[in-house]
Amino acid sequence: MSNGRRHDFDAVVIGGGMVGLCTAALLEREERLSGWRVAVVEPSLPRAPDPDSVDLRVSALSRASERILQAAGAWDAIREHACPYTDMVVWDAASSPDARDALRFSASETGEPDLGHIAENLRVQWELLESPEIEGVTLLRAGLESLEFQADAATVSLTDGRRVTCGLVIGADGGQSRTRELCGISRAGWAYGQTAVVAHLRTERPHAHTAWQRFLPDGPIAFLPLRDGRVSLVWTTTPENAAALQASEPDEFGRRVTDASARVLGKVELASGRAGFPLALWHAREYVRPRLALVGDAAHTIHPLAGQGVNLGFLDGASLVEVLADAVEAGEDHAGLRVLRRYARWRRSENALMLGTTDTLNRLFGERSVGIAAARRCGLALVGSQPFARRLFVRRALGLAGDLPGIVSRSGYAS
Ligand SMILES: Cc1cc2nc3c(=O)[nH]c(=O)nc-3n(C[C@H](O)[C@H](O)[C@H](O)COP(=O)(O)OP(=O)(O)OC[C@H]3O[C@@H](n4cnc5c(N)ncnc54)[C@H](O)[C@@H]3O)c2cc1C
Repeated sequence: MSNGRRHDFDAVVIGGGMVGLCTAALLEREERLSGWRVAVVEPSLPRAPDPDSVDLRVSALSRASERILQAAGAWDAIREHACPYTDMVVWDAASSPDARDALRFSASETGEPDLGHIAENLRVQWELLESPEIEGVTLLRAGLESLEFQADAATVSLTDGRRVTCGLVIGADGGQSRTRELCGISRAGWAYGQTAVVAHLRTERPHAHTAWQRFLPDGPIAFLPLRDGRVSLVWTTTPENAAALQASEPDEFGRRVTDASARVLGKVELASGRAGFPLALWHAREYVRPRLALVGDAAHTIHPLAGQGVNLGFLDGASLVEVLADAVEAGEDHAGLRVLRRYARWRRSENALMLGTTDTLNRLFGERSVGIAAARRCGLALVGSQPFARRLFVRRALGLAGDLPGIVSRSGYAS
């Protein structure tokens, strides 16, 4: 049931990042919501990416995200510029990548073509903007200023003075979400006291389409394959070390990364700029209010060690659209709490599980005690040797475990 006659828009998505644009595209493509008018509020839409270079910010996208982005009309174009990875190697600082207690997974053992793709965040945003699904979406190039909720509508005031009314507000405005703040929704969590340093590297040995991750006491160091043969570094470390790394001369930086990598890719050299991201775990205490739903980093921020942040955000968007479409089909008030709480229950529990798991891994691998280090290595060896545990690990990495929205589970990939 469209409320189009009463409001300017049926849904206004605040934030045109990867998750906001994807959610808007999914709303547009959903047949049961045909006739809906959707807007995205975003002050800084991306420029067209340079096809000859790889932007510094990249994400490991899961199979579930691939399915969702396919439905959003953007995947084919994203894949052309992304790098598939077929293998994953995870090992403890006290061990080595070819030891018995290193975890090695290969797509070939699961019958999958790959374990995921490394894609530029900017490219994902851009191809979503270019997708046919987004054509019908109104782009409001401004920031969110304030929100007012009435019984039958919400009014969104923008930084350029415009005001629009809508049936539903979807907050997709990232970790510092103004939507969440304006609604007075608090969040639980903590800063990790860790910073992730990112850069692109040239490596002596080829990356072999493998995602490498070594757990050091201060945090993991990861190397993700890029389509131009370089690798993307994500080195989680103390804020002090991160600042020193970012300020170091390029040669010194290369030497330090080579040492920390245990030379798994041979000698490495800095081949880009560098950036640092302070890390935190945050989980919104509420995902919904009447006429409001939060998705993506606006609802949760997670440690990047498992590469899950935006993958969870895409699942939020797809699940929300499914809940809304089911409600409209059943003639329910889709913007009421009764319906929106279905989305909140669904995604809050799935996200809490992943937030908890990555937090535990980060703590476990940060433990310096000799006993715990030995137990940790036994645990890795056990997971690596048990077919059931291996399968579960790969299903989680592919984003195909848990309670999935139909556009992922009906694709034939999900278990
Ligand atoms: C080092 C690092 C590595 C990572 N690696 C991975 C990975 O491999 N895989 C993975 O899945 N995730 C990864 N992540 C997490 C991922 O980057 C985030 O989860 C993702 O960017 C969140 O997307 P989003 O659209 O929810 O929010 P954002 O990307 O923060 O987008 C929010 C948008 O809202 C807009 N906005 C903000 N305020 C307003 C306002 N007031 N009004 C209107 N618009 C507003 C912003 O301009 C922005 O466009 C990583 C994170 C880090 C830090």
